[in-house]
Amino acid sequence: MRDRGPSPTCLNCGTPLDGAYCSRCGQRALAAYPALREVVSEAWEELSGYDGRFLRTFRTLLARPGTLTIDTLEGRRARYIPPVRLYLVASVVYFLCAAAIPNLRTPPPATMPRSDVNITIDASGRSNLTPGERERALAGLERAPWWAKAILQPVVLDPVGFQQRFLATLPRVLFTLVPVFATIVALFHRGRPFTQHLIFALHLHTTVFMVLAVRELSQLAASLAVLRVFELGAAVIIAAYTLLAFRRVYRESWPRVLLKGLGVAVVYCLAGVAALFATTVWAAMRA
Ligand SMILES: [Zn+2]
Repeated sequence: MRDRGPSPTCLNCGTPLDGAYCSRCGQRALAAYPALREVVSEAWEELSGYDGRFLRTFRTLLARPGTLTIDTLEGRRARYIPPVRLYLVASVVYFLCAAAIPNLRTPPPATMPRSDVNITIDASGRSNLTPGERERALAGLERAPWWAKAILQPVVLDPVGFQQRFLATLPRVLFTLVPVFATIVALFHRGRPFTQHLIFALHLHTTVFMVLAVRELSQLAASLAVLRVFELGAAVIIAAYTLLAFRRVYRESWPRVLLKGLGVAVVYCLAGVAALFATTVWAAMRA
């Protein structure tokens, strides 16, 4: 059954082959029933990126803000990982780090309206409510406004489920914020193709995920002082990177870059807060 050696035609579409890839469908020329060695080496090349594509992409993205966006827009694409895949890789890496590394900071307790009961949900999803406190919290909710009651009651009854639903939805919510960011950038930069804003947004969010993943990793040192240094570092790096990327991709004067950057940041913050609030409500009401 085994046909050793590459086939003279594409095994996917039958087009005669001239080189390592099919000129019609793009499939790589590979023998049918490939040996294990060929499968492993293809998997490795896919993972590491052909001839170091993966490394080159991240090096260009992180070391030279905006350059990857310009290269992609001007058609130098084959040497890099495509923007959406790059974003998804960074998003997965960040959420894996966030889920696997114990949180050094406990989130601030949420105080329920018109009651004195605080709810803290720690990283493992355990609620700090004892059965007695839960009873008091539910009783306190009876006096809360209807909308607060509707949102908070499911959280008090099932804090772990709430947190799981929230965290499961968050990556998708953040992904939908990318075109929102691109739209906001478009409002400040008229007369440019929307794809430019979209690729810029994907690359910028990829960088932010990578920087925040490093911030998560810094918690492995189990020191609040170290975490504070990395938090400050992350904020400074993200702000500087964003401005440098804006400057290189949109080619405007520094005063304009600063003003528009500030404008985009304010509007995007509002959109982000609204999205997080909507996700919280959704995760609470789905119970
Ligand atoms: Zn083909």
